[in-house]
Amino acid sequence: MAVDHELARERMVSEQIQARGIHDAAVLEAMRRIPRHFFVEAALRERAYDDTPLPIGERQTISQPYMVALMTAALEVRAGDRVLEIGTGSGYQTAVLAELGVRVVSVERIAGLAERARHVLGLLGYTNVCVEVGDGGLGWIAGAPYDAILVTAGAPQIPRPLLEQLAPDGRLVLPMGEDELQTLVRLRRGADGLAEEYLGECRFVKLRGSYGWDES
Ligand code: SAH
Repeated sequence: MAVDHELARERMVSEQIQARGIHDAAVLEAMRRIPRHFFVEAALRERAYDDTPLPIGERQTISQPYMVALMTAALEVRAGDRVLEIGTGSGYQTAVLAELGVRVVSVERIAGLAERARHVLGLLGYTNVCVEVGDGGLGWIAGAPYDAILVTAGAPQIPRPLLEQLAPDGRLVLPMGEDELQTLVRLRRGADGLAEEYLGECRFVKLRGSYGWDES
């Protein structure tokens, strides 16, 4: 039997996201609209709206819907903001940001994933998104400064270039800590410097590259 994707999306939003306390209307609406099953391979389509991350190849994952909602809400973006995402992966998180009317630069280190994400995002008609291949720990200087920066891979430290590319009042959200378990951290650049908040525990694949973990 064919899965009713629209119904699955509605349930995903109400049962996994609203029920856990996320009420940002724009984020909920974006996640009701985006066909998440486009971002996973055919064999996993029926599980696309499940309460879990899923494999996307290259030993990487599409993040759990709740985590996408939590991180997006934490960025507090407004239409027109410039946003940098590190770790495009499937491109699903990129699409959620694009739906909010921001301009997104998303950097992915694995060219094959970047290519597939570009394809799906193009298919869905997003024109306010640019997927680049590179080491996202270095940021993406051409689009700086950014009103919001989101890292979607676990980092052992805060990559300094990201702080340098953060605009006044800008928000940087990243999972940071041990390699298996991290804390979701939000840094906000205010008049008095950087304020740091902890938003809970999370589990992400590793950030690689100059400010990430070694290849292993
Ligand atoms: N937001 C994505 C999550 C993808 S998983 C989604 O929901 O689909 C994290 C991604 O970060 C992986 O695709 C991985 O290849 C990428 N990544 C890891 N280190 C990176 C780095 N230094 N620069 C850019 N991308 C990186």
